[in-house]
Amino acid sequence: MIKKATFLTSNSDFRNCPDPTKPEFAFIGRSNVGKSSLINMLANNKNLAKTSGKPGKTQLINHFDAEGKWWIVDLPGYGFAQVSKSIKADWEKMIKGYLTSRPNLKATFVLIDSRLDPQKRDLDFILWCAQNGVPIVLVFTKADKLSVSKVKGNVNKFLAASQVIFEEPPLYFVTSSTTAVGREELVGFMEEVAEE
Ligand code: GDP
Repeated sequence: MIKKATFLTSNSDFRNCPDPTKPEFAFIGRSNVGKSSLINMLANNKNLAKTSGKPGKTQLINHFDAEGKWWIVDLPGYGFAQVSKSIKADWEKMIKGYLTSRPNLKATFVLIDSRLDPQKRDLDFILWCAQNGVPIVLVFTKADKLSVSKVKGNVNKFLAASQVIFEEPPLYFVTSSTTAVGREELVGFMEEVAEE
């Protein structure tokens, strides 16, 4: 179990990311899905990932080191309503370049807000991942905000909506950064996969 993760490096160009000498796990999702909070919770480091701030600010790929064992990679979020076409195009180039060029990328965690019905933006993104051979794991966030049965209902709705994309239902975790629900499972998964 990682005790604490620390900052390693930030890059605006995926080609400058560190040489792939350690297994890594990427985190991505719509802005405001709870990505920074989740990374900070997993990393036991309240100030590690910065909350997403305003649309249009510099988009960076942030690498964090989990005690020399593996890297956590914070990818810029998608789904800001009001961003220009050129920012969207830059994001696409960066993310798609990153996701398809890292031989050490063990899994990409796609964060889904557990309160919402399936969103087209999330489904479009995971469809692209499936089509490009990018292995994904779903992480349903903010589970403390609704009842266990409601979360279950929304998870099932999302899995049903993504059935057309996957032959087998994707692996998923249910998490809360407030209560740390799911931390042990998620970190356990990373630990296991990193050692493979
Ligand atoms: P990001 O834009 O995806 O990095 O999202 P943030 O981590 O900045 O979170 C967006 C908002 O959701 C913030 O106000 C957080 O406090 C809140 N939030 C994030 N995760 C949780 C969670 O697990 N439970 C609750 N109740 N609120 C959360």
